[in-house]
Amino acid sequence: SPSVSLSLALFLSCFLNAVVQCLSHTRGLRDYCLVKAYRQEMCSREEPHLMEAFSQVLLSLWDVNEENHNTEVNPGKFYSIFKDAVPYFSGYSQQDAQEFLRFLLDRLHCEINRRPYVRLTSLEPEPKCTTVRYRDMEGIDEQASAMWKRHLERDDSKIVDLFTGQLRSSLHCSVCSHYSTCFDVFCDLSLPVPKRSATGGGSLRECLDLFTQEEKLDKENTPMCERCNRRTESTKRLTIQRFPQVIVMHLNRFAMSRYMVCRSTVCVSFPLTSLDMGPYGPVDCGPVLYDLYAVCNHSGTVNMGHYTACCLENDGSGWCCYNDSCVTPISENQLQSAQAYVLFYQRRK
Ligand SMILES: [Zn+2]
Repeated sequence: SPSVSLSLALFLSCFLNAVVQCLSHTRGLRDYCLVKAYRQEMCSREEPHLMEAFSQVLLSLWDVNEENHNTEVNPGKFYSIFKDAVPYFSGYSQQDAQEFLRFLLDRLHCEINRRPYVRLTSLEPEPKCTTVRYRDMEGIDEQASAMWKRHLERDDSKIVDLFTGQLRSSLHCSVCSHYSTCFDVFCDLSLPVPKRSATGGGSLRECLDLFTQEEKLDKENTPMCERCNRRTESTKRLTIQRFPQVIVMHLNRFAMSRYMVCRSTVCVSFPLTSLDMGPYGPVDCGPVLYDLYAVCNHSGTVNMGHYTACCLENDGSGWCCYNDSCVTPISENQLQSAQAYVLFYQRRK
């Protein structure tokens, strides 16, 4: 497979190599970049410098005819443009792959936003919350659609087409039973990792259950109840209102203990095919199936870590592990490890 023999090499940037490999195996994004489709839909006032540099990296990775077959692709120019756009990343310390992914997708989105003028000229903040009276839940889906439409009026790009979904947060006041519902867009889900169980492992389903389980909020942490007009004890529950084409799930292995950040080493198992996200969506939405195509792994400690990527090759040759400039084929059961950090799933058509 031609894609196998190409890889990135840059000192101290394993987080970047791993994330770029995962994104370069995101079919919709790769195809968009390879044909430079953003040039046709240029609406933004900005020059798409980062998008150009990112596409150039992808072009080099997927260039099967070039002489440079079997050599490494240097993402240095892309990274330096990225650091100029996001000064937060200009230091030399170890960076987090998940943070990098978020910043990268956000910057790319800004450069190729089909609605840049609305975003720049509109002063009115985007409304997020709506209140629904107890037993009056029928209007929820219409309100969610209206909210989504309003989001697209300001933010609409290939990145949104692929990665953006909508989360619904339901708040229930335990004093007066008043319900309120908020909608938020997301580009990835950050899932809690279960504490080590007797069997030593956990599953993605458990992480998703934890993420969507009802959470009791005490008076200090709860928003004002509109009916009681004060802070009351309430419960909050997150569900997915709108499913993205690509769902990125981050296993949040880093937890603050009293004195330091700890990294959970619980092995979380995850399905490679037919992950059903339906149970975390709107009531009666039916099965919503996703298939895994990339995993970003993190090994080591919080400060001294190393990132690699495992990606499913689209020529049917199976999975490959990308460890900076080294690429090796791996078996499916090698994918499941305590190092799995960010999972990339594609929605089945
Ligand atoms: Zn209340």
